[in-house]
Amino acid sequence: MKKLEVTDVTLRDAHQSLLATRMRTEDMLPICEKMDKVGFWSLEVWGGATFDACVRFLKEDPWDRLRQLRKALPNTRLQMLLRGQNLLGYRHYADDVVQEFVQASAENGMDVFRVFDALNDLRNIEVAMKAVKDCGKHAQGTICYTTSPVHTLDLFVQQAKDLRDMGADSIAIKDMAGLLTPYKTQELVKSIKYNVKLPLVIHSHSTSGLAPLCQMKAIEAGVDRIDTAISSFAGGTSHPATEAQVAAFKDTDYDTGLDLELLSEINDYFKEVRKKYHQFESEFTKEDISVQINQVPGGMMSNLANQLKEQNALDKIKEVFDEIPKVRKDLGFPPLVTPSSQIVGTQSVYNVLSGDRYKTITNEVKRYLQGGYGKPPSDVDAELQKKAIGNQSVMESRPAEGLEPEMSKLTHEIGDLAESKEDVLIYAMFPDLGKEYLQQRKEGKLTPEALLPPEAATKGKVSSTATEFKIDVHGESYDVAITGVGESGSGKRKFYISLDGMPEEVVFEPLNEYQNEKKSTRGKATKPGQISSTMPGNIISILVKVGDTIKAGEPVLITEAMKMETEINADIDGEISDIHVEKGDRVTPGEILIEINSK
Ligand code: MN
Repeated sequence: MKKLEVTDVTLRDAHQSLLATRMRTEDMLPICEKMDKVGFWSLEVWGGATFDACVRFLKEDPWDRLRQLRKALPNTRLQMLLRGQNLLGYRHYADDVVQEFVQASAENGMDVFRVFDALNDLRNIEVAMKAVKDCGKHAQGTICYTTSPVHTLDLFVQQAKDLRDMGADSIAIKDMAGLLTPYKTQELVKSIKYNVKLPLVIHSHSTSGLAPLCQMKAIEAGVDRIDTAISSFAGGTSHPATEAQVAAFKDTDYDTGLDLELLSEINDYFKEVRKKYHQFESEFTKEDISVQINQVPGGMMSNLANQLKEQNALDKIKEVFDEIPKVRKDLGFPPLVTPSSQIVGTQSVYNVLSGDRYKTITNEVKRYLQGGYGKPPSDVDAELQKKAIGNQSVMESRPAEGLEPEMSKLTHEIGDLAESKEDVLIYAMFPDLGKEYLQQRKEGKLTPEALLPPEAATKGKVSSTATEFKIDVHGESYDVAITGVGESGSGKRKFYISLDGMPEEVVFEPLNEYQNEKKSTRGKATKPGQISSTMPGNIISILVKVGDTIKAGEPVLITEAMKMETEINADIDGEISDIHVEKGDRVTPGEILIEINSK
């Protein structure tokens, strides 16, 4: 009897879904010996947001994490999630970067690559899938599950056939939002298994509480493998619990053969680990059936709530939830997963807050409507498309088709800061952040001692300055330690602090006279020609200079909010008379950013 296979995702998706991807390598390594003994088919340990969180928050080398896990888990396949042509970044990379990235991942220890595209446009995964095969590794083709009038059973079965024809070694049904229901799952699994004789995996989130039932129906319908997380990291926006599923199918035809006692010991370990990260817990990770109503995945919900809070508009969240399905329909029903979830979510916020749908259209929505992300699952709204991109032609080819090889350009750009091909790939994924990370590493600011002169270094030291203290927020107690101060530059200064032993970087902006003065010049926009933004965000580009002549409707600034870019346009014809912002400035709605004198 063939055993039911299990992929445990505690080290990747579970903490991404519950703790903002903050688990550190040092909390993974001590339990690896036990995890390696379990006999999981694979362990998902990398990809998704882990690479980003390593570089952005944890100041860990993501490649080094992979190498350490490889060493600590010699008997278990290591698995990663890869966003096709986007890899682990947020744009389409040229094919040579995709090939290099896959090859480097394989060389550093990756065995199984789950490759997906947010729009299920398989042209966006073909290069990555081939690269995985060329390395002799396991290429798992992915179907992003969603519901819409065009996402029929036939469509998903056809996609499974296309993935098989592409050379997939197995197929995953990726239910990232927890939209599957038990009987839909049964139907889907049955149809795919009947038509495509490849191992089939079900990856489903317990967002609505239905995932364990869905897995049971999937198993009965012939699925070969399930994705689970150790119980202390399971449930809610995470996954069905490993131990519960193992127990559920024990002594049946679907027995996993895994040792429940060993799993329980592993759970005891992770129970303690989770406590360390309590400040990253969120109310939006709890089980909630609303995803079955509004299709807004948990991760997206917390992002939206944060953004609206910042705007003092949390009371509008219901309207935003109502707007999301409408925007999704206008865009041809994309599945809501990175990056389409951000694209749809942010545009919905703009539509609600401005009170005028598509008055502001983000650059990403424009790019999407130009075909820049691939082919939408269904026709987009023609009127919106015209409004967003005018008469520009829509790209019919694979989005990365026209991209020139860029590996050597990237290598040249980052220069001495990169000591390896892997370093260049860090820079490729996150140009600003990656560069800053490599710079800090070169300056010795990322050594464990520099980041965290922990107890050993500070304990017992008599100092007149308090560098360690406890704070209480809403009854929760936090240990805070100031562990380093960065150079003062451009009016900003970085502090490295640790919160309950975890390093965090804080950018501190002292209000000096210059800035007070600068702030005071940014008055409230009250009349035409005083350009302001409608959302709080950062200035990422200034497109004009004082003295330029400009026409109404032409862009003057690009801002970034919620990871999406928006052009701010001139509202009158005239001459630029004053610019009150610099690249990188944080701005709030209503402030005068640029002034135009009408002629
Ligand atoms: Mn997932």
